Amino acid sequence: MSLAFSDYFAAQRIVFGAGELDRLGDLARDLGAKRVLLCTSGSYARNGVADRAARALGAWLAGRFEAVRPHVPEESVEHALDIARDAGVDAVVALGGGSALGTGKAVTARLCDAGGTAHRISLIAVPTTYAGSEMTPVYGVTSTGQKHTTSDARALARLVVYDPDLTLDLPADLTVGTGANALAHCVEGVYSLRRTPLATACALEGAARIAWSLPRLIEDGQDREARETMLAGAHLAGVTIAHAGMALHHAICHALGGAGVPHGVANAIMLPHVMRFNLPAASEEIAAIGRTLQGGASPTPNEAVDLVESLLHALPLPHRLRATGISESDIPAIAVHALESATARGNPQPATQAQVEEILRAAW
Ligand code: NAD
Repeated sequence: MSLAFSDYFAAQRIVFGAGELDRLGDLARDLGAKRVLLCTSGSYARNGVADRAARALGAWLAGRFEAVRPHVPEESVEHALDIARDAGVDAVVALGGGSALGTGKAVTARLCDAGGTAHRISLIAVPTTYAGSEMTPVYGVTSTGQKHTTSDARALARLVVYDPDLTLDLPADLTVGTGANALAHCVEGVYSLRRTPLATACALEGAARIAWSLPRLIEDGQDREARETMLAGAHLAGVTIAHAGMALHHAICHALGGAGVPHGVANAIMLPHVMRFNLPAASEEIAAIGRTLQGGASPTPNEAVDLVESLLHALPLPHRLRATGISESDIPAIAVHALESATARGNPQPATQAQVEEILRAAW
């Protein structure tokens, strides 16, 4: 595969460490923020984490929106925007998983729109799952039943605060689901046609950390060392998505999402199948993933796929599409949707409709 690439870098401050949430006010002030909107979901209002963030923000807290909903519905963005405008905010803290971050990104971009080009609103991301959205300028908003995805540099977080303690209570299904998603970000980032040298380095290091920590977290979600390592892996996976773009696996997983399969489950089922399909075009890259997972040994490309498969099969998630409510007759339409996605064009091995159907049947 050619090494040609083009990339962009944006100035982001990343702070990582247990207890960093309590420094949120100081960190926001360092950024120049004076009036901050706290954007999070009801579960954080109930478990006290939103109040901790509010205390840390102190006098800089100007408004609270605590009704983040999955898939970022348009009405929820409008509601948060009303609060932000009334409070005259100059920064948005998005605290939570990909849905809170998506809402915070949409609000930030729209506040910038409303204020003209000189109007800079800062997004501060405090991620609590392993989805990786905090490192990308991409977000989706759902209206009239469809998710509309946008990439907007103004929606890239200027500050990301990773506090591994916030992930101690991440439920097991979200731990393994968003963990499998992070692993897939690393794998696809290694062989995507849009990959960069930075993304490759981050993806390999991220995959090693995820492979070390995810099995430990199945045993004990309170394992602090594993939580910390997994969050660092998810950060590297987020850098990977931002600097590599994804490929056919992600296109298929999004098409499966449209058919009702949770994203983490789709990731855990599909990844080895798409890796096998990509072996003829990306054997070196897939072998590199195997080396990183085996810590220096040199598995063959086929053995590398088997390693990823056994890691994913150890997760308490369905391993076949038929267990997710997908019927075999759904496969052609899912393949059509997957190939309509621009993401599929980042795949090293070009895929036809019949080949994508074959991949899906192998996973069914
Ligand atoms: P989510 O944000 O929808 O959260 C799921 C549930 O888990 C929510 O009820 C939330 O309150 C709860 N939760 C989150 N963290 C928790 C914690 N630490 N402890 C206890 N409960 C917690 O789930 P997600 O998988 O993180 O995000 C999915 C969304 O993110 C999708 O909309 C997806 O499209 C988007 N996404 C975007 C990107 C990107 O680059 N833009 C990347 C990945 C995912």
